Amino acid sequence: MRLRIHRGTREIGGTCIELESDGARILLDLGLPLNANDLASTPLPNVDGLSAVSASLLGIVLSHGHRDHWGLVPKVSPAIPLIMGKATESIIRAAADFVPDAVALNASHYLEHRKPIQIGPFTVTPRLVDHSGFDAYAVEITSGGKRVF
Ligand SMILES: [Zn+2]
Repeated sequence: MRLRIHRGTREIGGTCIELESDGARILLDLGLPLNANDLASTPLPNVDGLSAVSASLLGIVLSHGHRDHWGLVPKVSPAIPLIMGKATESIIRAAADFVPDAVALNASHYLEHRKPIQIGPFTVTPRLVDHSGFDAYAVEITSGGKRVF
């Protein structure tokens, strides 16, 4: 398993981490940076498969409903599966009319506390965390004998 941090190490929010294993990839969050002026002028991170479909990009795991963790999703192909908490999906849907450039997102799978889900070669185990955003998860991911939290 290889890991590439695109954004979020020297800033709060704007998070985007790419994991690769056996030629398959997932993203952890795709946030709009807090200092971004607007969605239109903010470029997507350089990740293959965000704009044009790539079979190796299996999905985007969204940790919670704060925009600095999902705000760039409206710019990507709607064919990319989104994985998030059920309440997070509801919160984003309810807020879509009030948040600039937001859309109601559809989850293909739901994150649930301590319930592992399999995404290609990745086993993703969500851990509910205390955060100002309801239904927020840290994730433990294992693949190819390696584990990240
Ligand atoms: Zn947050």
